[in-house]
Amino acid sequence: MTAPNTLFEVEDRDPTPRPKPAPVASGLFADVVFDRPLDHAYTYSVPDELVAKIGVGKRVEVPFGKGGKPTAGFCVRVTDVVPTSGYEIKSVARVLDDDAIVDEHLMKLTRWMADYYLCGWGQVLHAVVPAGVRDNAGTRVATFVEPLPKEKLPNPLPTVTPQQKQALDKLKKENRPLEMLQLARLAKCTTGVVAGLVKKGLVRKFSERIETDAAAPGHDTESDEPGKPLPELALNADQNRAWETLRTAIESGGYHPFLLHGVTGSGKTEVYLRAIEETVRQGKEVIVLVPEISLTPQTLARFKGRCGNLAVMHSHLTDAERGGYWRRIATGHIQVVVGARSAVFAPTRKLGLIVIDEEHESSFKQESTPRYHARDVAVMRARLEGIPIVMGSATPSLESWANADKGAYTVLSMPNRVESRPMPAVRVIDLRHEPKSAGRHGAIGPTLESAMRQTLKDKGQIILLLNRRGFSTHVHCEACGHVAQCANCDLALTFHRTKNALVCHYCGFETAPFMKCPGCAQPSMRYQGLGTEKLQTEIEEKFPGSVCQRMDSDTMAKPGSHQRVLDAFRDGLINILVGTQMIAKGLDFPNVTLVGVVNADVGLHLPDFRSAERTFQLLAQVAGRAGRGERGGNVLVQTFTPDHPCITLASHHNYGEFAKLELVHRKAHGYPPFERMARLIVRSEKEDAAGAFADTLAGAFKEALKRVAGVRLLGPAECPVFRLNNFYRYHFQLQSDSSARLHDILRVVLAVAKVPSGVEFQVDIDPYSML
Ligand code: ADP
Ligand code: ZN
Repeated sequence: MTAPNTLFEVEDRDPTPRPKPAPVASGLFADVVFDRPLDHAYTYSVPDELVAKIGVGKRVEVPFGKGGKPTAGFCVRVTDVVPTSGYEIKSVARVLDDDAIVDEHLMKLTRWMADYYLCGWGQVLHAVVPAGVRDNAGTRVATFVEPLPKEKLPNPLPTVTPQQKQALDKLKKENRPLEMLQLARLAKCTTGVVAGLVKKGLVRKFSERIETDAAAPGHDTESDEPGKPLPELALNADQNRAWETLRTAIESGGYHPFLLHGVTGSGKTEVYLRAIEETVRQGKEVIVLVPEISLTPQTLARFKGRCGNLAVMHSHLTDAERGGYWRRIATGHIQVVVGARSAVFAPTRKLGLIVIDEEHESSFKQESTPRYHARDVAVMRARLEGIPIVMGSATPSLESWANADKGAYTVLSMPNRVESRPMPAVRVIDLRHEPKSAGRHGAIGPTLESAMRQTLKDKGQIILLLNRRGFSTHVHCEACGHVAQCANCDLALTFHRTKNALVCHYCGFETAPFMKCPGCAQPSMRYQGLGTEKLQTEIEEKFPGSVCQRMDSDTMAKPGSHQRVLDAFRDGLINILVGTQMIAKGLDFPNVTLVGVVNADVGLHLPDFRSAERTFQLLAQVAGRAGRGERGGNVLVQTFTPDHPCITLASHHNYGEFAKLELVHRKAHGYPPFERMARLIVRSEKEDAAGAFADTLAGAFKEALKRVAGVRLLGPAECPVFRLNNFYRYHFQLQSDSSARLHDILRVVLAVAKVPSGVEFQVDIDPYSML
């Protein structure tokens, strides 16, 4: 074992050398990793009685840290090589799993993640294995009895009571192991009677862990019933070309990444389905990653019935259900796993294909340790397991686009909508010249309003996007300029009318609304700025005869609510659907003939190098909801910046040109995908401590960079949102065109970094959030 390393490690450091270990009888040692930010494993000896049980991928309990507290960890290696360091070797106390819960493939993948995302291997394993598996939720240990064969019976046979005889006869008749309780119930006796039979040596007793009903996937949402499978569609020419290329790769196997670039409504799902069916036909399994919001029965109905047994891993599963799925996948009872981010870790036995729908979605990035991107992990998994992977999008991430450009991914292009339907016409409305609607200051300008009236008259449906929730998004004092701010964060509060509260959208802080300014004591607080809640009110006033439904994280908090609204919308019970980005994605409603973007500029000016890309994606995706039926459709985009390339190019559905322009900009500034980026955030509840450590850490990097070429450091500086959740935050970025060099320098510097108490830091590789 190597000396306990100081990388990130604060608490459990114990570097005192100890006497050499006494020789272990078994001669076996186990390397164990823990759910801690440690960069290496600890070695323990395996006592004789555990030799048969120990194994890689099982959890063990070992003494760890000061005082040798019993701690659970994962066994990552078993070896007979005697460790040479002078540290005392302690013994494994218990092996917690009968079977390995992490197989060889997942061991490799998680090891790679620990190295790449610079966190502990044990932390990755802990995050990857669901809690329901770790604590055996949805299972229980049951005691069974079974009849013994004649030759094993005692001689002479002991006498039995009449009740015992009755129980014994029942068991013999069943001729299989029965739970003790079950036998007692069948024989109408107590378990004491059965125990008597065990004692007399007439039956054998044993224990086994079995699943309880809680592990079966729930049917808590009424629409979760397995629908009848949708028919297979005849592929059009574009789909066919994409499918033929994929088919060849699936038939021959081997790592092969594809980027399926198909415009909205080009029928990407049908291509995925063919690929899935073919893989299942080969006796292999498929993982399908989709954004959480797409995990609706509507999407799933398209998968059900066409591709073997399906496991749907949505976020509302209980621990027991999640554990149940994990076990069923691991035992080969599931062919297709559909889920959000974490489904990339499904413990399949013979994975044959990975599909990622909407691969550009930033929800694939996890914003807590391990800060992985599911698409990137999926590509690595496909490479490690030697299988094809299909990433699909109408607006691919620039990372994937650049990879395709380099030839690392094969592009499958579907530039047309199915059935030769045209892309919807998009009209950009310059809000600077739009006359204010009569009398009141509304969010819906006259052009959008009259288009809405016409659509409703024609019995079409409308989707209105406003990517900001709440009622008033800007609460300030007209006399002194004071802005209502969160008590814990440097963020403005949003007024929510239904809740009648001012709310922080980051930390959830709430306070009662007030009219008197806390700064100057004047009764001059103004509630301005537009959120979805206020927009809904405006719609209800302007279109009293129509049904308007709001869809944002405030109205969609309950499981199943999303689905209920979409069902009602499909059934025509809702005329106008208004919401945040939630409504922009994946929805396929043929009767939507008008899409309105109320303010395209929300999010465009954030201090984040991806804000243009995100705005383009959002506009292109929401525009793609219009005109998916025979009646065609229109899109109206209200904006104050009608000449911004994001907006003009999205209005022409011109992804290629947007990508070209944006990549020039990224290259000029050395941003991803041209350079790799690591963001380091230092935070503390004490402002000085955070600032001082950020300077120290950045100083250590600057020093190291003198000896390394090709890595740049930007910062340190205050984060754009300086105080968040009571923490003061500083950040800096390291950028390099070489991922290896970037990682090398991070490892070297962080290995000797001493983090003061009361200060924390995070390393975010390929960061998505820059705020
Ligand atoms: P995308 O994901 O590319 O936006 P979808 O896969 O949702 O598109 O398909 C859009 C619509 O077109 C769906 O209603 C689907 O059933 C339909 N569709 C797909 N392929 C075909 C086809 N070959 N012929 C007719 N309709 C199709
Ligand atoms: Zn807050």
